[in-house]
Amino acid sequence: MKETDLIIIGAGPGGYRAAEYAAKQGLKVVVFEGAEVGGTCLNVGCIPTKTYVHSASFSEARERMAQVVPQLRSGVEGILSHPNITLIREKGIFSAAHNTVGDYTAPNIIIATGSDSKPIPVPGIDSPKVVDSTGLLSLDTLPKRLCIIGAGVIGMEFASVFHRFGSEVTVIEFLKECLPALDSDIAKRLRKQMEKEGITFNMQCGVKQIADGEVFFENKKGQTESVEADVILVATGRKPRVQSDFACVGFDYDERKGIAVNEHFETTVSGIYAIGDVNGRQMLAHAAEMQGIHVVNHIIGKEDNIRFDIMPAAIFTSPEAACVGPAEDWLKEQGTPFECHKSFYRANGKALAMGETEGMVKLCTEPGEGRILSAHIFGAHAADLVQEVTAFITLGATLRQLRETVHIHPTLSEVLIEVN
Ligand SMILES: Cc1cc2nc3c(=O)[nH]c(=O)nc-3n(C[C@H](O)[C@H](O)[C@H](O)COP(=O)(O)OP(=O)(O)OC[C@H]3O[C@@H](n4cnc5c(N)ncnc54)[C@H](O)[C@@H]3O)c2cc1C
Repeated sequence: MKETDLIIIGAGPGGYRAAEYAAKQGLKVVVFEGAEVGGTCLNVGCIPTKTYVHSASFSEARERMAQVVPQLRSGVEGILSHPNITLIREKGIFSAAHNTVGDYTAPNIIIATGSDSKPIPVPGIDSPKVVDSTGLLSLDTLPKRLCIIGAGVIGMEFASVFHRFGSEVTVIEFLKECLPALDSDIAKRLRKQMEKEGITFNMQCGVKQIADGEVFFENKKGQTESVEADVILVATGRKPRVQSDFACVGFDYDERKGIAVNEHFETTVSGIYAIGDVNGRQMLAHAAEMQGIHVVNHIIGKEDNIRFDIMPAAIFTSPEAACVGPAEDWLKEQGTPFECHKSFYRANGKALAMGETEGMVKLCTEPGEGRILSAHIFGAHAADLVQEVTAFITLGATLRQLRETVHIHPTLSEVLIEVN
């Protein structure tokens, strides 16, 4: 048995960033990766989808994805060639001794095995026309008619991009509104804008069956309707990738919710950590990366101030949407005192100059001169604007401090200081 300081299972953004950071801190790291390095994010998630978003046509998207993904993958391989890192290109399996994976043993182990798409239990789900996000990204031809089941982040991003490429897109969603984590007012405006551009949404509709490319669903009045499609994307969420060998280690986990972890992402077995999608906390690439860094800090006894309660997220539709902190609806439900401040892109000089006048900012703050609590935005470059507010929230700043910060004119960021 070979000894090392840290074993990491999985080289997605959680695993490879943790390996890079640990190696720079002087730890000897062994990384197991059973597929391509880069994980879901680089190979079939964030990067391919954003390459699609920034391509003019389906064929250009395919070509650019074939260049961008290998280029970034070789960057990750470069990171993992650090002298303190040994990359083992095989599946990491725990043996009965809980601190042993493959031929290696270590006092600390990080599980970063990611997630898989979650199918829905309806008859016909195995039809060859049904794909998940990975299947959709591997299509060689643009579907004429695309039906998307689920109006979460993945469903909405694909709806937006495939509509722009020329597919006839129909979305079927069980809930009343798309993107449940987003402020409902903003989510509704975004959906209405996408509807105006030609995407059909069937909200409060439950899919009952799929047969020969026809998706049958029950509408909110209890009537059965159907949509015919050449390709059906199931985008109903993802489930943590838990493995059968985890049982021999003895930590708590749940097939649906993932591996149970504490505030340091340590499982119920000391020295074994679970980061990223597999712990089911915040299924985002940047969350996985920061969790990995925090775990390494915890292992080496270094304090950090990473605020996992302040987690920005973006939806790369057209127009874009993004948020950080609680939505107005949630604050109301909780009975939290707050003030809501709004502004609109149509009053912003740069937005007008860009022809990007569809958009809205909602900032929630503590009452009076209190701190900023959240930002929910839709409109061009919403993610970049939310990133700015994230910095202010992290520093505990007030709206007045945001307003007193000089913003370059003319920029979209002025829309933040234009809130009423
Ligand atoms: C279509 C799509 C679009 C997305 N877009 C965004 C976005 O824009 N922004 C964002 O923040 N997030 C996005 N996500 C989510 C993001 O991809 C994930 O949150 C992120 O990849 C999680 O990182 P991870 O390291 O936990 O797991 P993963 O990236 O899934 O990596 C896990 C790795 O572990 C490996 N592995 C699994 N089991 C073993 C084993 N036993 N031994 C060895 N290796 C193993 C896998 O092969 C994989 O490489 C998107 C996801 C999808 C599907």
